Parts: sequence; C-alpha cells; structure tokens
Amino acid sequence: MSCKIGFIGLGVMGKSMAGHLLDAGHRLHVYNRTREKARELLDNGAVWEDTPAQIARHCGIVFTIVGFPQDVEQVYFGPDGLLDNMQEGAVLVDMTTSRPELAGRIAGEAEKRGGSALDAPVSGGDTGAQEARLSIMVGGDREAFDRVLPFFEIMGNNIVLQGPAGSGQHCKMCNQIAIASNMLGVCEAIAYARKAGLDPQTVLKSIEAGAARSWSLSNMAPRMLDGDFAPGFYVKHFIKDMSIASDSAGNISLDAPGLDLALKMYKKLAELGHDTDGTQGLYRLYEQRD
Ligand code: NAP
Repeated sequence: MSCKIGFIGLGVMGKSMAGHLLDAGHRLHVYNRTREKARELLDNGAVWEDTPAQIARHCGIVFTIVGFPQDVEQVYFGPDGLLDNMQEGAVLVDMTTSRPELAGRIAGEAEKRGGSALDAPVSGGDTGAQEARLSIMVGGDREAFDRVLPFFEIMGNNIVLQGPAGSGQHCKMCNQIAIASNMLGVCEAIAYARKAGLDPQTVLKSIEAGAARSWSLSNMAPRMLDGDFAPGFYVKHFIKDMSIASDSAGNISLDAPGLDLALKMYKKLAELGHDTDGTQGLYRLYEQRD
C-alpha cells in the first residue's frame, strides 16, 4: 500500500490542492492553524493531526503551503516541527512562496535526518489550484523529485525541476517579478480605456488577444472592472513575495526598478487598509485619481 501523505496549510490554495490528492484516493493526514478550514476535507475522509510533528511521524511525504517564511519556520523547526520528527527517507515539500535561503536550510536539515526536502512554489492562482492546473517550480535533488512527481501531477500540469534546493523559490521570484510590472500595466490600460471614453470590456476583447496578452490581463482585469477585489491572491502575500525578490535582487546586484515601483505601490495600497484584498485591488489606486 502507498505511504500516507501529509498536508499542512489549508487556505485558499492548500484546501483545493489537498482536495485533489484526496479525490485521487490517497490517504491524507492534514493539519492547519485553524481547524475549521479542514472541515470539508475531514468530511471527505482526511485524517486530522494535532501538530506538524504528528504529521511527520505518520507520513512518508508531507506537503506544506502556509503563508509567510515565518510560518514555514514554525512548521518545520522546533520540537513540534516536521524536521525533528520526520521518518527516515521521508520527503518534505514546501509549496509556500518563501525565501530561497530558507529552502536551502530546510533541505540541509532534512538530509542530516536521512530524508530530503523540495521547495516547490506554484503559480496559477486560486483558479489554477481549483482546476489542478498549477505551474510547479521545483528545487531539490532528482531522486526526491521523481518520487513526488506523481503527486505534483495531481495538483498541476506544468512541473519543472529547476535545480538544487532553493531553485524553485528563485524561479518563483522570476515569476513574481514578471507579474509585478504586468499588474501596473494592466491597471493603467484599464484606467486609460475609461478616461479615453472607451468601453473597457470591449477594449479587453481586442488587447487580450494580441501582443498584450497575459494571465493578469485575462484573469484580473475582469475582476477590476466588476469591482471584485476579493482574494484570490492576497496583497499581503504579494508584498511578501516582492520583498523577498527585492532582497534577492540586491544579493545578486540586480537593479529592478519595475519591481521596486510595484512594491512601493502595493505597500501604499496596504497602508490604505487593503492588505487582504486580492492583488487586482491595485486598481483602487487608479480609481482614486478619477
Ligand atoms: P492562505 O489562504 O492564507 O493560506 C495559508 C494557510 O496556512 C492558512 O489556512 C493558515 O492558517 C495556514 N497556516 C499559516 N501558518 C501556519 C502554521 N504555523 N501552522 C499551520 N497552518 C498555518 O494563503 P494562500 O492564498 O493559500 O497562499 C498560501 C501560499 O501560497 C502563500 O505563500 C502565497 O504567497 C502562495 N501563493 C498563493 C497564490 C494565490 O493565488 N492565492 C498563488 C500562488 C502562490 P489559518 O487558516 O489559521 O490562517
């Protein structure tokens, strides 16, 4: 019989991802800070564990997708954490968007304990998680990757091993850097359409089929136009990602003015009290100028 699978972090992303593993027939053990968010999975046959330590003791492969790097540290380190309690030969897979250095540290600690760790952040948003169409960017060793690949294939449809531990997180930073400037462009295009007296919906029909095509334009512009600022992808998480990307860019002496401007604008949005909006909420800053 296949090994038990652990899953920690049952928020916007994790709940759908864990649901796919359960639907595929795997024996799933779950833990989340707020137990109530596990209700539906438990009703469908998942087993609740009270701590990350218990998950680690029972499961040969453990997935985590929590919020911030400090949440990752809490789940992996300390007496109740995954690392000190992991099974010999287990693979720990962190799918949170987190710091590349932290991923490297976790991989080193897992190896010392006779197991391995992968960093495997994702892209594709809430809809990608719901529809199991995530892009999964993986860092770690090939053997662990091959072992986890069948599970990744249940949650995503574009799974690439980028290199050693930390490479998945670095790849995700490339993703977030590309999205950061793109989100400004999307907001500005919609604001321009309005001010120029065009129907923005009709403008979208033209520009999302041409060279301006992007995931953000097709998925976020309609939400902006509907005034739907619900998350999706939280502003507070995007600020976390861009801050990590900005630090990493500094470490490799890269100037990234597009990233810097997007980070500044999202921080302004958060200061206005919108840090739990979806990232499309950036459009609020443009509406204020009307
Ligand atoms: P979320 O809804 O806030 O989910 C995070 C979950 O982790 C929450 O349920 C939270 O518990 C749980 N958690 C946090 N710390 C924990 C701890 N110490 N122990 C146990 N559980 C803990 O966020 P999300 O949107 O799913 O995003 C998760 C990660 O994926 C983030 O790093 C984000 O940047 C990244 N991501 C998100 C998207 C997206 O579109 N949403 C896309 C790609 C990547 P509570 O229920 O108590 O809050």
